[in-house]
Amino acid sequence: MPWCPKCKAEYRDSFNMCSECDVDLVTVLEVDDAQLQNKDEKDKKEEWVLLINVADGLDADLKEGLLKSCGINVIRKHGGIGDFVKICTGFSNTGVDFYVPESQLTLAKEILESKPELDEEEWDL
Ligand SMILES: [Zn+2]
Repeated sequence: MPWCPKCKAEYRDSFNMCSECDVDLVTVLEVDDAQLQNKDEKDKKEEWVLLINVADGLDADLKEGLLKSCGINVIRKHGGIGDFVKICTGFSNTGVDFYVPESQLTLAKEILESKPELDEEEWDL
């Protein structure tokens, strides 16, 4: 359905110009709405959420490597993201925060939980 971008009047398909405004009619209104919705959904999928807070060092490197080897995108942030997280989660403000896309959060948790605990004695060698 063509419509006038100036006065927003809708016309039948046979019209090309707005008789009131003398401007070309456009037909992209519905497409724009669809694109906006797709963009919103895409933004939601790309939202990064806190997966875990680990001590910086070898353990962090191992976890990051494990997640990446399973196709998980990981962002590391040092020092937490502020008091909000600390208050709400009890995480300390030290170490490394791992962020993953929200869509991969469940998978990432399963990967970490399925991983056998490191035998710390091995690292004392
Ligand atoms: Zn018009």
